[in-house]
Amino acid sequence: MTARRYTAPMPDELRHRLRAGQHPARAVPCPHCQAHAHRPCQLRKSGRPLPQPHQQRIAAWAQLTACCPDCQVTPTVPCRTPQGWPLPDHAVHARRYQEAEDTAP
Ligand SMILES: [Zn+2]
Ligand SMILES: [Zn+2]
Repeated sequence: MTARRYTAPMPDELRHRLRAGQHPARAVPCPHCQAHAHRPCQLRKSGRPLPQPHQQRIAAWAQLTACCPDCQVTPTVPCRTPQGWPLPDHAVHARRYQEAEDTAP
């Protein structure tokens, strides 16, 4: 008996649902709660897993994976002001999040 193989590409709708189940920012470690890559963020007091990654993790992920359409930096380079200064608190421009989501595998 041979197993049948299904090689049809995954429908977009399904892919979107999968992505909704696990945020792509989980691909990077969390600088806030120290969660390892591919592990969920945790509440630092109780260790309880969080359904969504920390904001700091999403920022780190966006910085690592996407160019910023706003300040024109390349992946891994922090966002900066038009004067060339880093944004306060390691902030990331809003459009860079969108860019990261669009290019997420
Ligand atoms: Zn975290
Ligand atoms: Zn930027």
